[in-house]
Amino acid sequence: MNTTNSQKLFADAQQYIVGGVNSPVRAFKSVGGTPIFFKKGEGAYITDEDGNKYLDFIQSWGPLILGHCDKDIQNSICEAVSNGTSFGAPTAIETELAKEVLELFPYLDKIRFVSSGTEATMSAIRVARGVSGKDDIIKFKGCYHGHSDSLLVSAGSGAVTFGSPSSPGVPADFTKHTLLADYNDIESVKACFEAGEVGCVIIEPIAGNMSLVPADLEFLKELRELCTKNGAILIFDEVMSGFRASLKGSYGILGIEADIVTFGKVIGGGMPVGAFAGKAEIMSQLSPEGPIYQAGTLSGNPVAMAAGLASLKKLKENKEIYTELNTKAETLMAGFASIAKEAGIDFQYNVRGSMFGFFFNSKLPKNFDDVCAGDEERYAKFHSEMLKRGFYFAPSAYETGFICTAMSSSDIEKTIEAFEEVVKSL
Ligand SMILES: *Cc1c(COP(=O)(O)O)cnc(C)c1O
Repeated sequence: MNTTNSQKLFADAQQYIVGGVNSPVRAFKSVGGTPIFFKKGEGAYITDEDGNKYLDFIQSWGPLILGHCDKDIQNSICEAVSNGTSFGAPTAIETELAKEVLELFPYLDKIRFVSSGTEATMSAIRVARGVSGKDDIIKFKGCYHGHSDSLLVSAGSGAVTFGSPSSPGVPADFTKHTLLADYNDIESVKACFEAGEVGCVIIEPIAGNMSLVPADLEFLKELRELCTKNGAILIFDEVMSGFRASLKGSYGILGIEADIVTFGKVIGGGMPVGAFAGKAEIMSQLSPEGPIYQAGTLSGNPVAMAAGLASLKKLKENKEIYTELNTKAETLMAGFASIAKEAGIDFQYNVRGSMFGFFFNSKLPKNFDDVCAGDEERYAKFHSEMLKRGFYFAPSAYETGFICTAMSSSDIEKTIEAFEEVVKSL
């Protein structure tokens, strides 16, 4: 595979853009090699600057559930653009998209749109703190909620983990209000509740940022009860799992109601969008109805709203696609698993709707420590061998993979066949 142009473009980019990328995972640091520069996408495939074609399992990290260049999304974007790209004032389409989202979550009353998942979770936490009147929050190891200060936290020392900054530039004074619990471990949550004045718990109910690790139903039920009992607001971060794990995200699978839910990725149809929604008594505390401040120049941008609306409408009109996506994801993972087994390689996997995650581990991970026990070097090898053969998987073992509606059964078969070859070098 010739990647001369990508390499040249990367060298150029590095002279002007920090690390040559605008988001760190794109730099391929954890798998080695240099990033591929893309020129065009079509359906399930993407073509790079050297003309190589790949089957895309990243799909812009989740948004493109309908594949690249979906005609309905494209048309609605073009129509929106022809009327103007931004007004910084209300437009009818914001309400249309709001209605479509809230209709899927009857227990949520009001929504606000922002421009990224990071903004959605950051704002949701501000609302939760404002409403509960308590500063401490609980987050789970291995869950990612964007890059705002109080969420860039790693485990501190001591029996109960008040967080410490996981990045320079984050004041320890900010992260001392973030307590870290273990995913799927209710006892660790109870310990956090005892250690602090907890006003808010944020969790990915289907964690997609430590590969794919879903929360157990029983664990989430107990978490819901603990929050209610302690007067803490429960935030489900469904920026990734919303409209991906099922049409209604985790709610469609587990049926648990959070107090605030955050969205992003699919809800923008490939344009920059985030959102957070909650019960009326909570959301009414947000400005201009209430005193908690939050704002955005491009929030509810009409072009982004148009892309999101087209995407969501299509998903709602074709609910059966989730069964098809799930079957394809399951077929892919079961295919990989049986090949790995034959080769004597440890392999575990999870599938939820159009999301899949696999681990070179001897047991199926339940939390972040389990995930970290996996063989990262083997993943790096897997990544580069599959890439060479035209299969674009995430350049990190800690990411979820995605199936889109444009992927055919024969695409899945081809991927399994490639893995059969690749497994020999693992
Ligand atoms: C991607 C992601 C975010 C951050 O969204 P950005 O749009 O990248 O800021 C937050 N939470 C979860 C669960 C995500 O997967």
